Amino acid sequence: MSLCLDVQKQLANFTLDIKLTCEPGTLTAIVGPSGAGKSTLVRIIAGLTRPDSGQVKLHDTVWSDSTAKTFLPPQKRGLGLVFQDYTLFPHLTVRKNVAFAAREDVDIDALLKQFSIAHIAEQKPANISGGERQRAAFCQALARKPVLLLLDEPFSALDIATREALRTELKNQKGHWDIPIVHVTHDLEEAFYLADRIVAVENGHHSPFWLKRQLAHRD
Ligand code: ADP
Ligand code: ADP
Repeated sequence: MSLCLDVQKQLANFTLDIKLTCEPGTLTAIVGPSGAGKSTLVRIIAGLTRPDSGQVKLHDTVWSDSTAKTFLPPQKRGLGLVFQDYTLFPHLTVRKNVAFAAREDVDIDALLKQFSIAHIAEQKPANISGGERQRAAFCQALARKPVLLLLDEPFSALDIATREALRTELKNQKGHWDIPIVHVTHDLEEAFYLADRIVAVENGHHSPFWLKRQLAHRD
């Protein structure tokens, strides 16, 4: 089921206006300068912000349509979210965090094993490393069998080695989940390494030129 979005929203200094389709099993990276509108786009997809006009659809399900006044609240969208600041509950163990919103038919032990964190299942987030917390956050997001994975700078707070390890795992696994993945990052290397498609956003608009300028400035 693809994510199809064609949305407009008036922001402080410009109008966000983005069209985007993300197919199952593919990762679309959203890149662009600070203030470009990336977080607003994430919030629109998650249902935390309403667009002024346009539509957000997952296959045949309309999540948001300004004309029809349809608006599906965030908890009904069935998303998996991973943000930079991990989404774990501090008072719960890794296992309980993952089990929290898990679907009944999910094998939590197998999932923890798949992300190499079975040995810390009974630890609380404060007692594990940043990389382990992000692994747990991915398990938590996937345990609910999401229809879409929405990643906002998921590796940005990690040291380089951990970032590269997690990046490699995401690249190896993303095709198997068979859901669209939207990945916001300021890290172009990461975008080129992971993405099936890169969407550069500048001043709220799709801007392939911004990407070209960044690449031209590099060497
Ligand atoms: P261009 O470089 O002419 O913008 P693209 O192929 O990059 O060509 O984009 C064509 C159109 O598709 C643009 O209007 C753009 O907003 C939209 N678009 C951008 N990203 C995506 C995406 N991931 N899937 C589908 N359409 C997209
Ligand atoms: P990015 O994530 O790319 O850094 P943001 O989406 O956070 O960009 O912000 C884009 C711009 O829109 C910023 O100038 C911000 O101040 C402005 N903005 C964000 N949310 C709103 C809002 N609800 N209304 C008006 N302006 C907003």
